[in-house]
Amino acid sequence: MFLLKSRRKRESVIVQAMIKMYCKANHNSEGSLCKECESLSKYAEKRLLSCMYGDLKPVCKHCPVHCYSPVMREQMREVMRWAGPRMIFRNPVFAVMHIIDNLTAPNQKKKNSAKSARTK
Ligand SMILES: [Zn+2]
Repeated sequence: MFLLKSRRKRESVIVQAMIKMYCKANHNSEGSLCKECESLSKYAEKRLLSCMYGDLKPVCKHCPVHCYSPVMREQMREVMRWAGPRMIFRNPVFAVMHIIDNLTAPNQKKKNSAKSARTK
């Protein structure tokens, strides 16, 4: 599953894993997500699929387009803040992939293409 070719698909898998982890620990959900996280998860999936950059999408924090609504954005930030550091221990493969994706992602702000050519 971690050999997914599309960066966008991979990002989606990672985001879903983070939401799941966060929900389980913070909302005591078992097996499935609580309502709040369920809608955040669906929302994230939809935003990702309709991203105007397609597979050239920059990592969300560097993206000039703010496609999340402020509420969802805040909720996602909370999930990332909590799950981010924990990913390294619980899901090292995802964590490493995410770091690599962050480094190689097209950066729409800086247009840093030299970096992505070097690491590929
Ligand atoms: Zn939850």
